[in-house]
Amino acid sequence: MDGSTLDPDFEAHLPAALAARVDAVVVGGGPTGFRVARELSRRGRSVALLNAESWAPYNRVKLTPLLAGEVQFGQVAQPRDPVGDGLAHHYAGQRAVAVDLDARLVETASGRLFPFRDLVICTGSRAFLPSIPGIGARNVFTFRDADDAAALKARSLTARQVAVIGGGLLGLEAARAMAAQGARVCVIEHEMRLMPRQLDAEAAALLSARLYALGVTCLTGVRVEEVLAPAGAVTGLRLSTGETLPADTLVVCAGVRAETTLAQSMGLAVHRGILVDAAMRTSHPHVYAAGECAEFDDRVEGLVGPCLDQAETAAKTLCGEPAAFARAAPATRLKVVGVEVFSIGEVEALEERPGVRAFAWRDASQGLYRRVFVERGRLAGAIAIGPWAELNRVQQAVTARSPAPPLFAPRFRREGTLWPAAAPASAADWPEAATVCNCTGVTRGRLGEAMANGAASLDALRFETGACTVCGTCQPLLEEILAGGAASATAQRWWRILSAVSIAAALLALVTALAPRVPIPDAFEARGGLETLWFDNIVKQWTGYGLLAVTAALMLLGLRKRLRVARRLGGYDAWRLVHLGLGVAAALGLFLHTGFRFGLNLSSALMTVYVAALLLGGIAGLATGADHKLRDAGVGSAAAPPRKIPVWLHILALWPLPLLLGAHVLGVYAY
Ligand SMILES: Cc1cc2nc3c(=O)[nH]c(=O)nc-3n(C[C@H](O)[C@H](O)[C@H](O)COP(=O)(O)OP(=O)(O)OC[C@H]3O[C@@H](n4cnc5c(N)ncnc54)[C@H](O)[C@@H]3O)c2cc1C
Repeated sequence: MDGSTLDPDFEAHLPAALAARVDAVVVGGGPTGFRVARELSRRGRSVALLNAESWAPYNRVKLTPLLAGEVQFGQVAQPRDPVGDGLAHHYAGQRAVAVDLDARLVETASGRLFPFRDLVICTGSRAFLPSIPGIGARNVFTFRDADDAAALKARSLTARQVAVIGGGLLGLEAARAMAAQGARVCVIEHEMRLMPRQLDAEAAALLSARLYALGVTCLTGVRVEEVLAPAGAVTGLRLSTGETLPADTLVVCAGVRAETTLAQSMGLAVHRGILVDAAMRTSHPHVYAAGECAEFDDRVEGLVGPCLDQAETAAKTLCGEPAAFARAAPATRLKVVGVEVFSIGEVEALEERPGVRAFAWRDASQGLYRRVFVERGRLAGAIAIGPWAELNRVQQAVTARSPAPPLFAPRFRREGTLWPAAAPASAADWPEAATVCNCTGVTRGRLGEAMANGAASLDALRFETGACTVCGTCQPLLEEILAGGAASATAQRWWRILSAVSIAAALLALVTALAPRVPIPDAFEARGGLETLWFDNIVKQWTGYGLLAVTAALMLLGLRKRLRVARRLGGYDAWRLVHLGLGVAAALGLFLHTGFRFGLNLSSALMTVYVAALLLGGIAGLATGADHKLRDAGVGSAAAPPRKIPVWLHILALWPLPLLLGAHVLGVYAY
């Protein structure tokens, strides 16, 4: 990654869109700030994004694999400018130090001034350093940003005995990453188990054993009393057990604190974070806050997914759109520990809440463990150590608070699975509500929508939805969805109307086939009213012409895909609807022309072909309109969509029609 170089003459080099006061200044260039800037820019707002860090935009979450040596610096940088090509411009190396709310002006540490109409604060968090004697010694590191990662990476070349304070998500990932570089690593956690908020005691013990096998020792229920550094550099830790742990490097992962310095200097209401309402408004009408620096409903977020949701909410509110942040169940997966660890829901609270039932499954021989929590019949949380094919489905069900599958308990205790059927093999066949990207909470439906709007590559999908921009483990799933195609990944446009017209066409075809034939009157004089339709030669001729015209139009529409000129006359979705509408018109035309009478020989064959083509066309239309619903119910797949067979049968049924029609017309005129 390159450090950014900025011209000191700010005013002279402002892009034209920023020469005047910008619509919004966004302070903070983490995932939240970039998302706010992009969402505002998409809505036509001019934005200046100020970031204290002087690195080019990078993915904070990938700092752990970087430290573990699994990816290089280049792979941590964002592949595409996260603010997009719109009206947003980001300024690296610009720490906002003061805000004049009357003049609506942000001042940065380098003395630049950024005028704004609205301000969005996304200053995130900073690493928390506990007040332990000696914590300021040399070779003591935090792990929060690219500077920390660069320093730790350099240190990992010589570190032999690393101590990590904190057995939470970040501490374990840092520990495993340092162990992967060849150091002996010991994690010290003052709670009685690892990841206490995400795991229960059994899962934590299993994880601890797995980590031990990977070169990481975990001490739980132990506090660090002092960092020993007789010559200025850390040599060991004095523990609450009275023992001394030798260490030449200390990594402190003892949690984070919301970065609220700027907000406090502005006089905003701040508690643990900047206080916001559900629309991300702060105590000042022109100032919003989102991400890890914000506190909503007594809580400060600590994962990317909810921060991005807050970013979208803030951008919408600022643009006058109704929006409210709703907290989803927190989901966690460890990235580099070398053992799959999954947790969703407020596990710690669920364990103690009355009325919550827990079901566990374990396979000691393979070190697998799964536990689900059910509250009032609904899935409320889950834990897993080791692989679990149903994970995405579990995440989706817990997020949606879905009812627990009927009679799942014996199966779960026996096999460790919640559902009888395996999840569909391809992500393209997942239900719309299924979560594809666990970090950002992006669903299969959202991806399908982006594809329907033109996102045709992995990069475009990432950019449009934010999926796969965090840990990157969902990339294969995105590729499967891309391979499945946009049409199969989401609901067809106007699918309800499409389905209704298709049902009408199919029903009319059935009525034509099954309704009693209009009888031929005994006497010529008895014919009158509706019967004129079928027994007056002139009228019958005109209904015949009408039916012929509708049939010709129907067939010509089939050429829509081949004729370039036709493409300019509206999208395929609209033409398909017209096609089905004409099908209904043809069914009515048949009734007007024949009175449900099939006739003999040629006429009978022609009627049969008409009815079959209409019926199959209606079924094909219905299978197309309800494609996503059918696939949600397990009918068909991306490779074999449910409409495939009815569409082919419809086309097959149509083949004899031109020939029979021609013969019929000739027959009528000849005789
Ligand atoms: C190593 C690591 C791994 C992680 N892994 C995961 C994971 O797997 N899954 C997950 O969900 N979460 C993970 N997280 C947490 C995730 O990174 C955070 O939830 C997310 O970054 C929060 O985004 P944010 O934009 O609100 O804050 P931040 O990412 O903290 O960004 C805030 C930015 O604002 C800048 N800033 C602060 N003050 C100012 C100022 N006055 N002026 C200008 N700029 C300022 C900061 O320099 C920073 O760049 C991880 C975090 C770390 C450190």
